[in-house]
Amino acid sequence: MEKGWSGLPYHSIAEHYKRIFNEKVYKIPVTVVDNCPNRMGLKGMKTCSFCDVWGSAAREVSFQMSLDQQIIDFQKLIEKRYHAKKFLVYFQAYTNTFTKISTLRQNFETALSYDFVKGFVVGTRPDCLSPAVLDLWQEYYQKSFVAVELGVQSFYDEHLEFMRRGHTAEDSIKAIHKIANSTAVDLGIHLIIGSPGESDQQIIDTAKRCNDLPITNIKLHNLHVLKNTELEKYFNQGTFQPIEREDYKNKVLLFLSYLHPRIAVHRLAAFASRWEELIAPKWTSDRMGTHQFIVDQLRSEQVFQGCLVPPQTESDKYLFEKMKDRIVRIDRN
Ligand code: SF4
Repeated sequence: MEKGWSGLPYHSIAEHYKRIFNEKVYKIPVTVVDNCPNRMGLKGMKTCSFCDVWGSAAREVSFQMSLDQQIIDFQKLIEKRYHAKKFLVYFQAYTNTFTKISTLRQNFETALSYDFVKGFVVGTRPDCLSPAVLDLWQEYYQKSFVAVELGVQSFYDEHLEFMRRGHTAEDSIKAIHKIANSTAVDLGIHLIIGSPGESDQQIIDTAKRCNDLPITNIKLHNLHVLKNTELEKYFNQGTFQPIEREDYKNKVLLFLSYLHPRIAVHRLAAFASRWEELIAPKWTSDRMGTHQFIVDQLRSEQVFQGCLVPPQTESDKYLFEKMKDRIVRIDRN
């Protein structure tokens, strides 16, 4: 019987990394920039409606630490807790390509100078991809593992406008192809579920669109309200109501049903790491509870990733059967 993460009824990112590294790898989230085009108001852009002052940084303490300190500090913590051996440095907060190439290079060199670091992951936006950035990624890909996580958030312009992203769906699609055509980096995208008026058909079409894109992984978030954000204003005015856990679960199940099992999924919902900042919905603070709730529902409703994607090839058939098998397995040691 398959155990742990690999027994989940979806293709987890842990499996994806395990195939590449032969063992579990852990991410070290770091903060090396403190800005982005939106926050700077470039071309009239505004801070994204959901973004807090930390720009998605996992730990605000990072802002007072050098990159070396952040890597060493977090690695010790995770090694002690999980006996972890291999790590990826995750340039997470704000827009990590919104800086000089020489600074990017220096950061990559610092990250790779540690034996336990096996590569890095860069979070960025679809509109911050200069040819020099793409060349640099490809250069580092020749000597290390390089992954990129692109903040796409939605393939619908009305939802992107609500989130004040400052880019269109078409921009994201072009950016994905641009990265895939110029580099061989491991490419993933972030998507947010829960914008007002989002239909089930849009969820289905989003999954189908993902299937046709040259990406290997997806990170799912639910749109939640944090303090001191534009979304908090909408929430207080009564013009935005965050999605309920039950509705969110239904949308995730629908999305996974149509998502090809070749695409790995990072996590099934957002998690508010700073509880004091979370306004709504409160279920967002219950990381494992929400994860388990969705996994339990997948099993009880006999839904698995790609269950509604007709297998076309022998490899599709193999993945289909593998996923199907997991909905009846109990995930325990
Ligand atoms: S989500 Fe990213 S691009 Fe948007 S305001 Fe926050 S840091 Fe900037």
